[in-house]
Amino acid sequence: MYFGSVRFFKHLIYICLIIGVSFFGTLLIKLVQSNLLLGNTSNVIAAEESDLEVQALEFEGAEAEDTTGADAESMIGYQSLHPDLYHEQPVITKRRDKIAYLTFDDGPSARTIEILDILKEKNIKATFFVITENKNLALLERVQAEGHTIAIHSNSHKFNQIYRSVEDFLADFHTCYTRIYRETSVYPQIFRFPGGSINSHNRGIYEEIIAEMLRRGFLFFDWNISTQDSVPAISAHTIVESVKNNVKGQRQLIILGHDALDKTETVKALPEIIRFLQEEGYTFDKLDNSVQPIVFTYE
Ligand code: ZN
Repeated sequence: MYFGSVRFFKHLIYICLIIGVSFFGTLLIKLVQSNLLLGNTSNVIAAEESDLEVQALEFEGAEAEDTTGADAESMIGYQSLHPDLYHEQPVITKRRDKIAYLTFDDGPSARTIEILDILKEKNIKATFFVITENKNLALLERVQAEGHTIAIHSNSHKFNQIYRSVEDFLADFHTCYTRIYRETSVYPQIFRFPGGSINSHNRGIYEEIIAEMLRRGFLFFDWNISTQDSVPAISAHTIVESVKNNVKGQRQLIILGHDALDKTETVKALPEIIRFLQEEGYTFDKLDNSVQPIVFTYE
């Protein structure tokens, strides 16, 4: 009898050994790779959920792990997805002057033209983190033509879909990336996570997503000033005040605002925000992948 024989048990032990070795081998590769990649973002890793802070991401573009040419065998599954989704590694230029970056999430919308008109009148460049499932994507052509940065926010902006897995995040990101290119003939280089880089929806996987996006050459930006324009029924006056009260002498400001149908108060507040910051000695610029990112972290 083969079953129950010494030979049978010997073979059984071999099979168990092979399964065990390949399982732990894969696990080890995964751990080593994510540690290597997260070396660049170690200051983003969460320790305590309660103390959300913002800080400059110490990103060493030149030393970033380059696994684009790694052989397929040693890659984590999702690393081989969307082979066109790569950008040259960013090179950060540190600036010493007082500088304000206006950013508008969730457009294009019925407000985009109004925002563009104000920026044009004030001769200021800004950054638009767009949702490509929105209607009137054709507006991006004007955003581009007037010299603003168009950046990735999301295609669907549906938290329960995009934060389900790294694969789902990549698929949504890739759609957004290609749709922006289709409208503007320019590949976006930077992005902002829907809900910010660390939020209650991506708790289990944000480190892995950050590592993967940095590996692919995409830099992301959170903010250190919120206009609070997500608060329902907020007034233009309160929006201006929340900016004024949070400047606190910071040299670099990344200001979060929204470009969406109901953000009429944001549009109303915009000229006053610009006037105030100019009086405080700030110049305005748009984000790109040479700007030192401000990212959320935990103390
Ligand atoms: Zn958003």
